[in-house]
Amino acid sequence: MRPHTRFQHKVAAVNERLSPITETQKQWGFRNALKHYAIRNAKGVATCLDCGHQWHSTANTEGETKCPDCGATIEIKDTQCRKLTDRRYFSIITTAEGIQVQRVFRIEAVYRKHRKPEYSIVEQFRLWLDGDCHSAVTSRRRSLSYYVDCFVECSDIELRSDNECYHYLAGISEVYPRIKVLPKIKRNGLNGTSEIPFMKLAKAILTDSRAETMLKAGRGSDLAYFLQHPKRLEELWSSYRITLRNGYRIADISIWADYIALLTRLGKDTHNAHYVCPDNLSEAHNKAHRKAMEHENRRERAEKRKKAAGDEARFRELKGRFVGIYFTDGTIEVSVLGSVNEYLEESAALHHCCFASEYYLKPNSLCLSARVNGERTETVELSLTDFRVLQSRGLCNSNTPYHDRIIRLVESNANLFRRQLGA
Ligand SMILES: [Zn+2]
Repeated sequence: MRPHTRFQHKVAAVNERLSPITETQKQWGFRNALKHYAIRNAKGVATCLDCGHQWHSTANTEGETKCPDCGATIEIKDTQCRKLTDRRYFSIITTAEGIQVQRVFRIEAVYRKHRKPEYSIVEQFRLWLDGDCHSAVTSRRRSLSYYVDCFVECSDIELRSDNECYHYLAGISEVYPRIKVLPKIKRNGLNGTSEIPFMKLAKAILTDSRAETMLKAGRGSDLAYFLQHPKRLEELWSSYRITLRNGYRIADISIWADYIALLTRLGKDTHNAHYVCPDNLSEAHNKAHRKAMEHENRRERAEKRKKAAGDEARFRELKGRFVGIYFTDGTIEVSVLGSVNEYLEESAALHHCCFASEYYLKPNSLCLSARVNGERTETVELSLTDFRVLQSRGLCNSNTPYHDRIIRLVESNANLFRRQLGA
């Protein structure tokens, strides 16, 4: 990519003048970015692949430990393999001619039993940022592949268009601890590494004073959350400011964010420290959640009732003539569901869908409620064309012991309905 802007021209020039990585930095990368191993044979003899030291290891699980000789943190692997490899990324954060730069290296090691480990380091790309938040990327060419880290080794590090994969790899890379930061970025509160990728954080504090405020108040993990959920920052900032003012430390930022959103839904004052800074966040969250659920249920019920009222006229027109029909065999009492609201109540009591599926608007069938001792037992759907029972369902659509009797009783009274239809 050819440079277009002034910043890109400058980056392209400075990119050519960076000094190579130092021996100390390489050593650090080898020690800290890579994994180190010991392999253990069936007899329990472990061999450190860093220094070749052998010892009897009795611990019966694989896992991390320290080599008793060279002190390297190693992972013990029970394997017959004599060769292991590892490949990672690490970065150096520095400045060059007034520009912040993160240089990202790939380090690859080959470990063999009884040999010194061999490793190679290749710089892959650089992220650039100036104090006015202009950014650019210089990189080796990437081949088209499913994998994010497929750089063409023989290509040059030059200006390329930005891509999420650079930021991903920079984010997962181990950062060399001695970092150099532009004065303006340092003044805004950033002078070290944190859980947030450096360049992302630097951009945030250069462009958003809220990020700067959080960072300076030592609330890096809250900031990390908001950088991942920028919409939430917009919604919650005025409430968050109250926690700052009150010196209230948020135990769990994602729970807190949910909690404030719930308060908003409940119409509570989200600028009142009493609500915003609860003594026990998780308890307050659970309480608000419970209330919001109740709220939601009430709203849903009201909405259903409203819909029922709207459908009532149509129902009357379709089924009005059957309303009031009642018969019994002495035990089972059957009556026609007489309004949309009765469908709603029947559905709610027996947990089935005759209301939700709008059976009350079906032109060719009719629903009846069959009760024993006044208890809703089954709901019967009767065909208005051949006067047979289409279905009869009890609680949660199951059959009750009265099932067959109910069907017989309804069908033997079919004349009552036929007569109404003929009238
Ligand atoms: Zn060792």
